[in-house]
Amino acid sequence: MEARGSLDHCALVSHRAMAILLQAHAFAGNPTRSNRPQSMSPSSAHESLKSLLAAPPSDVSNLNFKVLAFKNGKPLATSLDHSSDSPPKWRLGWTPPSNFKDFSADSFVYLGEESETVYWAIDASENEDKVSKCAGGDGFCFVELRTLMVATDWADAGSMGELAIAGHARGLLEWHNTTRFCGYCGSSTIPIDAGRRKQCTKETCKKRVYPRVDPVVIMLVIDRENDRALLSRQFRFVPRMWSCLAGFVEPGESLEEAVRRETWEETGIEVGEVVYHSSQPWPCWT
Ligand SMILES: [Zn+2]
Repeated sequence: MEARGSLDHCALVSHRAMAILLQAHAFAGNPTRSNRPQSMSPSSAHESLKSLLAAPPSDVSNLNFKVLAFKNGKPLATSLDHSSDSPPKWRLGWTPPSNFKDFSADSFVYLGEESETVYWAIDASENEDKVSKCAGGDGFCFVELRTLMVATDWADAGSMGELAIAGHARGLLEWHNTTRFCGYCGSSTIPIDAGRRKQCTKETCKKRVYPRVDPVVIMLVIDRENDRALLSRQFRFVPRMWSCLAGFVEPGESLEEAVRRETWEETGIEVGEVVYHSSQPWPCWT
C-alpha cells in the first residue's frame, strides 16, 4: 500500500486494538433457504394462503403458515426475559395468516420453508389501522434490524437464523417497494410467483422483474510494514466511531478493481494486493 494523498479525513490505527468476530456473518445462513425438499411449492402455498384468507373466520385453518409483519422496514419483535449478566434475547413476532384477513393475498411475500412450516412477510406500513391487529400482543413492537443485530448472541445459531430470516424479508419487501413500475415501459408491475418475482402489467411488455442486489465491497486496507489499518468516519458518526471503507461495484469492474477505485477515490491511497475474505447479505441500508 502506498500513501499518495491527503489523510485529513482518514485514520491510521493499530489493528491490534480491534476485536473482530470473524467466525459469523450477520444475516447469512437463513434456515428457510436451504436446498432441502419442500412440502409444497411457493405457488401452491400461495394458493392455499388465498383460500385461507377468503374463508369465513369460523372456518380458518392456519395450516403451517407463519407471517412476519414489517412497518417501515422494521420487523415485529419482542425482547425476552434475561438475567443482567447474560446477552439480551429477543424473538420475532410470527403470527398466523388469520390475523391478516384484511390484506390481499398479493401483499404476502413467500420467504421459504423449514420443517414443513411456510414463512411469509407482509408490509403493514400503509395500513396503520390494521397494524394493531398484527401487533402480536403486549411486548411486541416494530424494531430496527440493526438493533436486533446488536442484541443478537452471535454464538446462538437459532437467533442468528431468525436474524437472517428477518433480513431476507426486509430485503424482499424493500425490493417490492422500489419496483412498483416497469423499468422498460413505465407501466405498473404486479407480484407473481408468491411475491418472489414481479411482472409488468402492459400486455405488449410483460417484462419479468427479479430481485437483485447491488454488490458492495467493504475493505480493510492494511499497512503491514507499520502494523496499521486504514479507517474512515462520516459526519453522522458518533464521536470515536470509525468504519472500514466501502462502496458500490460499478458496471464493468471486478470486485478487486472496485476495492482499488473506491479506496483511491475516498482516500487517495493506492492499494496493492487485494485478498477476498467472505460475503454476507446486508439488508439494512437505512
Ligand atoms: Zn413494461
